[in-house]
Amino acid sequence: MSRLREEMRVIPIGAWVTAIVLYVALVVLSWRVFIPHDEDFSSWPRWGLTLFTMVMPMFLAVYVLLVGYVAGDARRRGMRQVMWTLLAVFIPNAIGIILYFILREPLLVACRSCGTQVRQGFAFCSKCGTALAHACPACRSAVQPGWSHCTKCGARLEAGN
Ligand SMILES: [Zn+2]
Ligand SMILES: [Zn+2]
Repeated sequence: MSRLREEMRVIPIGAWVTAIVLYVALVVLSWRVFIPHDEDFSSWPRWGLTLFTMVMPMFLAVYVLLVGYVAGDARRRGMRQVMWTLLAVFIPNAIGIILYFILREPLLVACRSCGTQVRQGFAFCSKCGTALAHACPACRSAVQPGWSHCTKCGARLEAGN
């Protein structure tokens, strides 16, 4: 559960507030406005109405929280936050949100020397230049241990690099 709680913390406080306000507003509106003014509801049993007015706004509130998650998570991953938030809001049927989860970048890692958040796979820290991974001696791009050649420039790598 702690992992879930950690992910919940990614959602900005504004999204929580919006979701709660929206939920309460919709429940109140349903009971005060929609149901008394719509003939169709008069035949519904009371438990059906209660369930309907609890569950429908819940979907909207969850949608707001998901958009909030996309916004917070995109920032944490160094992705284009505004663009992804807008896509999540405006592409219908949550397709923007689904796309985000398919296309999102890996989490950033902290430089062990200065703590700057850098993209995984970088050979050097963008701020202080500390080596973060094995680097090709010729072109300095990141290489994996066990490779015999650099994938960027083709230079031969020493065994055990
Ligand atoms: Zn650094
Ligand atoms: Zn190279």
